[in-house]
Amino acid sequence: MASDVAVSDPLFALQQQTLISLARSTARTLGLYNAGLSAEAVRQKYGVTHIAKLASNENPSGASPQVVSALQADAALSAVYSDAASTQLRDVLADHTGVSAENIVMGNGSEDILHMLALAFLNPGDRVVTLLPSFGLHEIFPRMMGADVTLVGVDQQQQFDVAAWEQALSTPAKMVIFSNPSNPVGCMLDKDGFARIIAAAPQECVLVIDEAYFEYCQDDPNYPDSLTVLAAQPRPWIVLRTFSKAWGLAGLRVGYGLASHPELINLLNRVRTPFNINRAAQAAAVAALGDQAHVKASVALVNTQRESMAAALRRLRFYVAPSHANFLFFNCGRPSNEMAQQLLRYGVIIKPWREPGYEQWIRVSIGNEQDNQQFIDALQAILTQGAV
Ligand SMILES: *Cc1c(COP(=O)(O)O)cnc(C)c1O
Repeated sequence: MASDVAVSDPLFALQQQTLISLARSTARTLGLYNAGLSAEAVRQKYGVTHIAKLASNENPSGASPQVVSALQADAALSAVYSDAASTQLRDVLADHTGVSAENIVMGNGSEDILHMLALAFLNPGDRVVTLLPSFGLHEIFPRMMGADVTLVGVDQQQQFDVAAWEQALSTPAKMVIFSNPSNPVGCMLDKDGFARIIAAAPQECVLVIDEAYFEYCQDDPNYPDSLTVLAAQPRPWIVLRTFSKAWGLAGLRVGYGLASHPELINLLNRVRTPFNINRAAQAAAVAALGDQAHVKASVALVNTQRESMAAALRRLRFYVAPSHANFLFFNCGRPSNEMAQQLLRYGVIIKPWREPGYEQWIRVSIGNEQDNQQFIDALQAILTQGAV
């Protein structure tokens, strides 16, 4: 095979050395984001017909039918560049959120905005404070810039440790990033905790509140109205939301940021790739926003299924963290990598957690009833074998 020839070729090895020495030092050692397996790869490797893909927090109800029509209607214009400013989409989002369009930035997924924030603000040695366990990119992008990252752990009950946050924020930091509700735990910072953490942050820092799972708890009376709380205080801030989860558009990559000041958007625009939101994504997101009923129904289904799945896991005697999002985080009582491998044989894809202290934890997305049952049945079968 070509790659075998290449490996034995001294020029191949020499070029590899050259590349490594040319690379930025932070790129050489950066952790890789754990993006998980595709359903197709698992189907081929294990020969299982039905795959329950419960690893990436996708919406089991899919996208609105209106999204599908919008994509079909736009397909003929594939040769034409997208609107670099996403003007129509930002206007519709302004109506939807109450934030003016000049304070909105679009991302190729909200992860793109996390990337832009790192590029625009972080110098080597800057301090960033974020959560542990956490969404990988909250740590990886700051480290890519050479920033120092302080991780604030959750408490014994897997809840935000507000006192530990206050302590961590008592020394200067350039950026504060956390998701609420958190990924992977699913814990929700309530109104009081949110107000305390914001008040504790240094005056000179950028607050990044990642609300990827906003839609799953926006009706919860304890969920903070972040836009109102943040607007009443002096620090710059940005709230990130996405079409990937409740809106069912993960494959199209659309996220957005609602910022405190147009200057923050100007800075992000300087580091953003100009056509970062493609035509299909812009058309789909506008159509999705026109079908609120679809999102409401998707969220209701997931929130109900989540509680049945949590109950089933607890019946199997697993410790399950309370969740306010479209996934559950639980201690599987053995190395989660092993459990993940065993589950693949049953056609179930979940996310084994790898951060220090969480090597026995699994994050499982809430799918449709059939996929959730496939997961619970597989776990039960694995536990039964283990007991023999
Ligand atoms: C899924 C997720 C995102 C990324 O979403 P995209 O918009 O698909 O890039 C960002 N933050 C958190 C916490 C997430 O869980």
